Amino acid sequence: MLKVVEIFYSIQGEGFYSGTPSIFLRLHGCNLACSFCDDALHVGDYKRYSFSKIIDEIKSYPAKQIIITGGEPTLYDLREFIDALHVEGYFVCIETNGYKLENVKNADWITYSPKDWDDIKKDGWSEIKFIVSKDSEIDKILKLQSEKPIYIQPLNFFDKPNFENLDFCIDLAKKYPHLKLSIQMHKFLGVE
Ligand code: SF4
Repeated sequence: MLKVVEIFYSIQGEGFYSGTPSIFLRLHGCNLACSFCDDALHVGDYKRYSFSKIIDEIKSYPAKQIIITGGEPTLYDLREFIDALHVEGYFVCIETNGYKLENVKNADWITYSPKDWDDIKKDGWSEIKFIVSKDSEIDKILKLQSEKPIYIQPLNFFDKPNFENLDFCIDLAKKYPHLKLSIQMHKFLGVE
């Protein structure tokens, strides 16, 4: 059983798979309480769904990519669920702050967005994404070297872009071209 806040179908707006139609599964709860949290829904109501109930529901959508997000999905040991999704042919993506990466180690794609830049995990993820504002301690992320994609994403408002932070990130990526820009496309398009 998983605590499900919502299941919806949209376009991935962030990172490597930006632009890809995807099913989003938002799970309840987080180990952190970031002041800028975009996903206050993860602290609200939820329903307890079995793995098979979730799979039945997501089959109503045509996409075969599912993004498990939160909240913090690694609060749950998702390995058995991910295996079940693989049996049904799904490509499984996880969005995590890195709390317990072993709980999702059989996922196909792991987006790691560390909130403590003094303690960045070196392994266990597919792409890393830093949420950046003009006041961020950038020196801490510039130290990271990786063959995998390193994204900077402007800290936006809840429902719209923050152009001041976007301009800061554009300048940063141009100055340090090993960084890629992720823009939360859905906030520009006004879609969920
Ligand atoms: S880690 Fe993510 S979901 Fe958790 S409180 Fe911070 S921004 Fe919100």
